[in-house]
Amino acid sequence: MRFFPKHCFVFPVILRVPPCYSFDVKENFRYFDSASTTTLPLMKSTKPTIVVLGSGFGGYSFLRTIKTDLFNVVAVSPRNHFLFTPLLPSTTVGTIEFRSIIESIRVACPEVTFYQASARSVDSERSVITCEGAPGRQPFELPYDILIITVGAKSNTFGIEGVQEHALFLKEVSDARAIRQRIIECFEQAAQPTTSPEERRKLLHFVVVGGGPTGVEFAAEMYDFLDEDLRKSYPRLAGEVSITLLEAGGQILNTFDEELSAYTLRLFQRQRINVRTGSLVTRLERDAIILKGGETIPYGLVVWSTGIGPTEFTATQLFPRDHGKIITDGFFLVKGFQNMYALGDCATIEGNPLPATSQVAQQEGYYLGRTLNRKQRGKPLQPFRYRHYGMLAYVGSGRALADLTNFKGKGFTTWIFWRSAYITKLVSLKNKMLVLFDWFKTFVFGRDISRF
Ligand SMILES: Cc1cc2nc3c(=O)[nH]c(=O)nc-3n(C[C@H](O)[C@H](O)[C@H](O)COP(=O)(O)OP(=O)(O)OC[C@H]3O[C@@H](n4cnc5c(N)ncnc54)[C@H](O)[C@@H]3O)c2cc1C
Repeated sequence: MRFFPKHCFVFPVILRVPPCYSFDVKENFRYFDSASTTTLPLMKSTKPTIVVLGSGFGGYSFLRTIKTDLFNVVAVSPRNHFLFTPLLPSTTVGTIEFRSIIESIRVACPEVTFYQASARSVDSERSVITCEGAPGRQPFELPYDILIITVGAKSNTFGIEGVQEHALFLKEVSDARAIRQRIIECFEQAAQPTTSPEERRKLLHFVVVGGGPTGVEFAAEMYDFLDEDLRKSYPRLAGEVSITLLEAGGQILNTFDEELSAYTLRLFQRQRINVRTGSLVTRLERDAIILKGGETIPYGLVVWSTGIGPTEFTATQLFPRDHGKIITDGFFLVKGFQNMYALGDCATIEGNPLPATSQVAQQEGYYLGRTLNRKQRGKPLQPFRYRHYGMLAYVGSGRALADLTNFKGKGFTTWIFWRSAYITKLVSLKNKMLVLFDWFKTFVFGRDISRF
């Protein structure tokens, strides 16, 4: 409350009452039956229906805040869980297990009706959203009184040839799982007696494209895995492993303080992570990267982490967009619409763009949940104010960076702070306990290298 200006703002929205308004949300959808549309039997309800698209930082924090005694709440997402992405790089090498950083939407929000599906299109005239459970499955329609779009973003390939086919991304648990499988696969193939020295060096070359926080954290985790576990399990291969970080710009971690970025570069040099700035990838082949200028770099694994772009849903619907993001006002109301809100990585506030981070999406989700609760109770509303807490990043060997408003930290004590901060930020007691247990397990027994 203390961040809000004194003046009040009342939404220029009067909830209209579409035909769907009086229906029980659990029954309130229609199936498409190729030629005809079937409407299921419906029950009465007096509450407006909110449909939330997405179960990420924005969607999850909204769902945890919105009052289900005021609204019927329906959530739609292809992912039936929330994922704590800041710890996703740690799962690629097994420092943390995948299930330790996810939280089921059905468990966390039992009063919300959840459909595991993707929104395909929105009909704002009829206030209806069309969803698809899986490719090829029968789509269905969901009517809404209020639509909340928090569909996030997808990894950006910039249309570079071969990236979609040959690189691995780091956005979802399935991506982290694929990376973990591929790392072990590379080591097992390299250990075969029939593998030539040249093929071995290629298999054991791990390349990260993109020197932002995610790329840096993956390279750091990869180094720890190599240094603490793989050396012992594959002693003959250890000397042939190499890690390369390719960055098109002039420096890595360019959103961090310059001194922290320089510290990371020095640390990576000591860890023999080969950082190559000014390296622009122009094409990816099945086993080689082609750089601008023609240089060819053979690889066993490429992790692509060069930024984000709009999802298919955001890109194909008739929303007003700026740099691919849906334009909203300071209350997250989509420009030109009366009952549609957008927040998180898929949206931008007109005249006040914010970074695409979890802390922004989370604060926005909490804000909008509180605001709609207040609006429904007839209380005055205030526009969103972002509070920046700073940035953290893990850089390997038990060291981390903290770029906070009043403090710049690096090294071992910052790593303790990094771990404490993330334990605090994890969204459930179960997640906190599991992550603590995983860290302890990794410390005592090392990371698991089984492949199945
Ligand atoms: C590996 C990694 C590490 C990160 N580390 C940090 C960090 O340390 N600090 C930080 O601040 N930020 C970090 N980020 C960024 C942060 O995760 C994002 O900014 C944040 O998740 C954005 O929240 P969101 O709700 O907008 O989108 P997301 O959290 O991406 O959620 C989008 C949701 O929408 C769903 N969805 C997609 N399409 C549809 C559709 N058509 N219909 C319905 N649902 C759909 C998705 O399944 C997902 O549930 C990291 C990101 C990654 C990938």
